[in-house]
Amino acid sequence: MYRSGAVMAWNVFKFCTALRGLGSIMILLVLGVVGVSYYAVVVSSYFPALTNGGLDSLVALVVLLLFHALLVMLLWSYFSVVFTDPGSVPPNWKPVVDEENGDADLLAGSEFSQLAGEPANSRIRYCRKCNQLKPPRCHHCSVCGRCVLKMDHHCVWVVNCVGALNYKYFLLFLFYTFLETTLVTLSLLPHFITFFSDGEIPGSPSTLATTFLAFVLNLAFALSVMGFLIMHISLVAGNTTTIEAYEKKTSPKWRYDLGRKRNFEQVFGTDKGYWFIPAYSEEDIRRMPALQGLEYPSKPELDGQEF
Ligand SMILES: [Zn+2]
Ligand SMILES: [Zn+2]
Repeated sequence: MYRSGAVMAWNVFKFCTALRGLGSIMILLVLGVVGVSYYAVVVSSYFPALTNGGLDSLVALVVLLLFHALLVMLLWSYFSVVFTDPGSVPPNWKPVVDEENGDADLLAGSEFSQLAGEPANSRIRYCRKCNQLKPPRCHHCSVCGRCVLKMDHHCVWVVNCVGALNYKYFLLFLFYTFLETTLVTLSLLPHFITFFSDGEIPGSPSTLATTFLAFVLNLAFALSVMGFLIMHISLVAGNTTTIEAYEKKTSPKWRYDLGRKRNFEQVFGTDKGYWFIPAYSEEDIRRMPALQGLEYPSKPELDGQEF
């Protein structure tokens, strides 16, 4: 028993180290796809088309403006997810004890749960790897080797955990990636069709190869990101993380579900001017504890239930 446990722990460790090593490669891969798309759309087709005159020039101008605007937003969101700490547990974190309601016994219960593992009815959980109490919705990430606030998942594409403090940036990255890859696919479609038609094919072989590669890559990304985006839209609407979605199958009532509008605001903030950029207004950060990742408002009638 002990041996197989140790072997498994070793395998998990190796897997996590491999994932960490993958880090910089994934960033280069993302930048590589951006580079190929840039070359195919801007350098070899729509920038030269600007001088064609008439409708061609107008279409080229629109495509170029959209492409660059979306690219700025995509890269801004991407590097915000990569470089923003998803949220760590402050040292010696303790839950706020509600003295009036006599919730102090919850804390006493946590000492017990330390010994007995994690009983399902305990409200306060404990991480034995980090040796600290876990705030609500916090999970331990084995790749990062630490507890992450409102952990959603560890994302290899951004070489970071996606948690309380960068989930919005991650969603914006998905959103802008979907729009940009769709734009690239549509703008290269005419070239892709000529590629297979019998007519004369303009451009050098290397330009053709890049255009072909960019079209296939962007089509694949657009389709897979769309599926992911749809899944995350439904998660945000229900105020659930990916991890919680797996865990909560057994309980039909979800204590953090405050209705679609408030659930959305818990991720994107209340200020409309900030909804489409990877940042929050000062006022939202001050007023909304959920954005700090330690406390979450819940439905009053479900307060007191286990998470
Ligand atoms: Zn932990
Ligand atoms: Zn992680």
